[in-house]
Amino acid sequence: MQEWMQSLLDLQERDMRMARIEALVKSVPAEKAAAENGLKAAEAARLAAKEGVRNAEMAIKAVELDIEGVRTKMRDFQTKTATIKKNDEYQAALHQIETCKKQIAAQEELQMAAMEGLEAAKLALADEEKRMAAAKQRVAGMLGDLDARLANCTAELETMKAQRRDTLGNVPPDFQQRYERLRASKFGGGNRVLVAIRANGSCDGCRMNVTAQIRVNAAKCQLATCSNCGRILYVED
Ligand SMILES: [Zn+2]
Repeated sequence: MQEWMQSLLDLQERDMRMARIEALVKSVPAEKAAAENGLKAAEAARLAAKEGVRNAEMAIKAVELDIEGVRTKMRDFQTKTATIKKNDEYQAALHQIETCKKQIAAQEELQMAAMEGLEAAKLALADEEKRMAAAKQRVAGMLGDLDARLANCTAELETMKAQRRDTLGNVPPDFQQRYERLRASKFGGGNRVLVAIRANGSCDGCRMNVTAQIRVNAAKCQLATCSNCGRILYVED
């Protein structure tokens, strides 16, 4: 095998590695977006918990207002009793006062429940804030890793691109052009475009038989391509 053919085979391995690195680079924005979406979910949960605290505080205020209203009413009746002369009116006023007391007792129970609700809502908010802080830290770490990956991959790709230019420079132009065209085609990326003729005389890319003439050409390191798939063929030493 010609030396340049071995270089081209090595280059192909590196090109396949480059394709994997390029895929890693390409997936960075989507991975960043996914990480940031995780943060959005945590922020939404935190805001919902904050809203829960606000609602609980409003519920307490509402009960307090109700209680205040009934207390005012009760005080009015109490003031009135001092001036009422008729017994039945006096009894009626006492009855109203009793009713107010019962209402206040019932409302105070609601107030207790509302206060417990507020405590629970505050605990839930504290939980969500902790979760949010952890998510922020996690996402910052992920974004940092992704930036580092991007920087490393980009630097590695630059080095590899320079290397491949040097290697390709030593390869005959017809091989160079065919190889580049195939790598840019659907056969490129993670697939080989330069394939061996197998011991049974078939193309290692598509497994179809290769004619004797093509085998001879390939053995002489002349440009030989599979008549079925179009890949460049070579003969192993
Ligand atoms: Zn083939």
